Amino acid sequence: MNNTNSLSDRFSDFVIRSLENDKKSIHILWDCCGNTYKQLGRRIIADDYSDPLAAIRKENIIDPSSVSAYDVFCSQVESGIINGSERNNLEIDLSMKLEGDSDYELYHIYVLFLIGKNGKVEFAHINIRKYTEAEAFSKGVLSVFSSDKAPQIFAKRITRMMNKFTDKEIAFIQFDVERFKLINDNYGVEVGDEILKFFSNSLNVILNDDQPFCRLTADVFMIVISFDEEDEILDFIHMIDSMLTGYNGIEYRLVFGVAIVEDRSMHTRRLGDNATLARQSVKGNALKNIGFYNGRLKTELYQQQTIEDDMTEAVIHNEFVMYLQPKHCISSGRIIGAEALARWIHHDRGIISPAEFIPIFEKNGFILKLDLLIWEKACKQIRDWIDAGIEPVPISINISREYLDSFDVVSKLLELINKYNFPINLLQLEITETVDTEGTSAVVRKMKDAGFTMLMDDFGSGYSSLNMLKTTQFDVLKIDRSFLSEFMESERGRKIIEHTISMSKDIGLDIIAEGVETNEQAQFLNRCGCDKAQGFYYSKPIPVDQFNKKLIEVNT
Ligand code: C2E
Ligand code: CA
Ligand code: CA
Repeated sequence: MNNTNSLSDRFSDFVIRSLENDKKSIHILWDCCGNTYKQLGRRIIADDYSDPLAAIRKENIIDPSSVSAYDVFCSQVESGIINGSERNNLEIDLSMKLEGDSDYELYHIYVLFLIGKNGKVEFAHINIRKYTEAEAFSKGVLSVFSSDKAPQIFAKRITRMMNKFTDKEIAFIQFDVERFKLINDNYGVEVGDEILKFFSNSLNVILNDDQPFCRLTADVFMIVISFDEEDEILDFIHMIDSMLTGYNGIEYRLVFGVAIVEDRSMHTRRLGDNATLARQSVKGNALKNIGFYNGRLKTELYQQQTIEDDMTEAVIHNEFVMYLQPKHCISSGRIIGAEALARWIHHDRGIISPAEFIPIFEKNGFILKLDLLIWEKACKQIRDWIDAGIEPVPISINISREYLDSFDVVSKLLELINKYNFPINLLQLEITETVDTEGTSAVVRKMKDAGFTMLMDDFGSGYSSLNMLKTTQFDVLKIDRSFLSEFMESERGRKIIEHTISMSKDIGLDIIAEGVETNEQAQFLNRCGCDKAQGFYYSKPIPVDQFNKKLIEVNT
């Protein structure tokens, strides 16, 4: 490579000397037509290639996780040279290890095209510069933990960008890998790190200078973009999602949270927190991987957070108690059973309703723990009645669908019955009607075979009620409150209730109505052939001692 004539024609001695004196970066002047180049200052590649970018690739100085991004970059440069380029510069951030580096470091490669009179790219000036640690952070390669200046730098870039786009809207977009821990566990931490680097490097290529991004913690990244229409956000996310999902055949799912900036004077930190809340709101949701922030979400998530924070302590401090709601015979008024319902007597917040904590427990798996606790209380209660010489009534307990496939409910219940030693017909099981008929059907059969009385809870509240009736062997139908109240209002509805009741009897199912709030409802049910009811008309769910008093009063 001795033909540097045209290079020295194009670049004056002055320019070449000043570039040579630049201690901070590496300069390569490339004659793209003559296929020669000259390295100024530090030399990082041999001189005998024809293409310096290809040389960088060949000399194994690029971090393997950056190579594919680099290849994309090289083909952009190449296409610029061959076809002419709309832009006169191209750049990439790249993790590389040059002489003197102990590990891969973040470098910036900037290619400036020098266009000749004919409009073709004649030369390229390649500048390679190592980022300082703080810069590298704001580029997303280093985490918060590796530089204490990092958050300020990211915030500064955001502010700069917001000031630039005063006429546009701004969105904070956060994403992470769902169950990233599993990747580390299954493939090793090195692979986990590689994936995170792949994210950083790819984002560097995809995003422009007006789209700051940063890696917040382990696998959580934040990008801030400007936009005109909200659709653009979704397009943007889909692009990111498709580029980053899947690395060397490893499958994972990205979860995004979006917070659109409503008040630019708000601290960037708080704006970021909103994106976090949005992301957390869709965690574990199989159907959705993009969450949007809104005010309501915030209160919900706050409550969810306190519930999750406090639940374990609550068990230790006996804050979960069992209430009993009596079931009555409509014609005689006698108590014929009870349903066990959980209440959380929270040390700060007072009584928390199951409607608030059960859905959260069902999501996070704590429901099994709570149910085991309530089941045991119910069994103990039956034993206590027997011991106290009170005529026992069956207690029905709620079985959540969440653990039906994974936990051997039947063995556990049989164990409890053994421990408290009472006839199995005194414990009844309520399972909500469900779409998943096959799995449920098998478990219900197993429970029935073991001798339990099975109640189909909330009948008429879902959409699969009739299907479920056909396939699953329940003993008792529990008509849902909404079914009762809504259908009671019209003649047509009343007919449907009436026929549901007679149909159930026809196929050998017993029937009880729940949510009975008026005497009128009770009498109507009774006329239709349903003689059992549970509801506020008789009693709300009450603490055990109150229930016991009532039981003795009413039944003896
Ligand atoms: P569910 O099993 O359908 O329980 C009946 C719910 O209806 C109870 O609400 C009860 O207080 C309420 N209710 C009863 N009669 C009336 C009435 O006349 N009018 C009105 N408006 N409501 C009535 P609660 O106790 O708030 O429980 C809500 C749900 O939480 C339960 O619905 C059940 O699905 C779940 N749950 C409660 N405790 C447990 C538990 O220990 N384990 C499990 N897995 N779920 C539970
Ligand atoms: Ca129930
Ligand atoms: Ca119910």
